[in-house]
Amino acid sequence: MNFFLTEEQQVLQQAVREFAREEIAPRSAEYNRRHEFPWENFRRLAELGYLNMHLPEEYGGQGLDWVSYAIVIEELARACAVTAVIYEVHCSLHSEAIYLFGTEEQRRRYLPRLSRGELLGAYALTEPQAGSDAAAIQTRAERVGDEYVLNGQKIFITNGGVADVYIVFARTHPDPSLRHKGITAFIVEKGTPGLSFGPPERKMGLHASHTTAVYLENVRVPVENRLGPEGEGFKIAMAILDRGRIGIAAQAVGITQAAFDEAMKYATERHTFGKPIIEHQAIAFKLADMATELEAARLLTYRAAFLMDQGVPCTKEVAMAKLFASEVAMRQTVEAVQILGGYGYMEEYRVERLMREAKITQIYEGTSEIQRLVISRHLLKELQAARG
Ligand SMILES: Cc1cc2nc3c(=O)[nH]c(=O)nc-3n(C[C@H](O)[C@H](O)[C@H](O)COP(=O)(O)OP(=O)(O)OC[C@H]3O[C@@H](n4cnc5c(N)ncnc54)[C@H](O)[C@@H]3O)c2cc1C
Repeated sequence: MNFFLTEEQQVLQQAVREFAREEIAPRSAEYNRRHEFPWENFRRLAELGYLNMHLPEEYGGQGLDWVSYAIVIEELARACAVTAVIYEVHCSLHSEAIYLFGTEEQRRRYLPRLSRGELLGAYALTEPQAGSDAAAIQTRAERVGDEYVLNGQKIFITNGGVADVYIVFARTHPDPSLRHKGITAFIVEKGTPGLSFGPPERKMGLHASHTTAVYLENVRVPVENRLGPEGEGFKIAMAILDRGRIGIAAQAVGITQAAFDEAMKYATERHTFGKPIIEHQAIAFKLADMATELEAARLLTYRAAFLMDQGVPCTKEVAMAKLFASEVAMRQTVEAVQILGGYGYMEEYRVERLMREAKITQIYEGTSEIQRLVISRHLLKELQAARG
């Protein structure tokens, strides 16, 4: 066993940490206050070669591993949770789907431009009646000659409206009882007639991240934009979510680290009853618990990423990392607000925003309940396999 990052990973961690601290963090509060998409951050991530680092060089990447990917997201989230999720959706939900399931022609058409940041990607699965139960989607795709005609509605789509390309999941078989077997994935470009977007949702947190509805009204997509075979869309959606959830676990770790940084600093500076509050055991123990849970969440996340790198099935381990890291983020950002007392409740101090941002990590890319469902199903399968 080896718990040390490689030299390359350490160099990357240091570089992203400095970049995120010096460039991303100072802009974050203002972008969020203005509910403005942080284009400057995305542009800089592209310029510095951070987009799609996990893809092979021929598609604009650097062939890096998933542990490196988790490190980048963690450091971005430590500075700005919004930038982290924009990056995560672009790189792992969108680009990775085209890389893993696209034809060579699709890869060459989209990936180099996505890697250079000339295109921004999104992933559109959720619908008003189908979130956790993704197999219940109703958006239809009917084959007409050399095209598919898409009709339906997606909701809560990250990068909605601002993204240039969308991975859209739709039902190619009219019988809804077929559930996951009737779903197919498509690459849909912004500007295609019939594709439109709702206004950005007003959310509890992640204000600078644009989350919108996506409307499809007789959107004609050429057959060559189908991603993977007909009926394989659900498998694609789930395989991609395994990668994505590593990113959300890493985002949760980054948010928790930021809350810990703020709480530690404050606890050594703030005095009550004649001493720094860190010298009151109640506060010191909160910090001890925070540091311990943070470390455990990080280890689970890196291990899930490591297993992905080994190419071994790791859906259960990814779900465990996402579940645990997001629960820790929620619990510990609440504690960070408590450590800052009244100041913690004020917008001026970052922990207030971190607490609101932590909440989403328990919801998107599968709620905590859905992660528990995934984990418990695997446990049962393992037990049955062991019994023969
Ligand atoms: C800010 C934001 C960004 C998002 N970005 C995207 C995106 O880019 N692309 C995309 O496709 N989607 C996106 N989503 C959607 C997100 O993935 C869904 O909201 C999430 O999966 C939950 O689905 P739902 O909202 O329909 O809740 P529901 O599925 O209706 O769940 C409601 C509650 O019931 C629980 N529940 C449901 N089924 C079960 C069960 N079987 N057992 C136990 N409990 C259950 C859930 O855990 C939850 O607590 C985003 C959402 C938000 C809020």
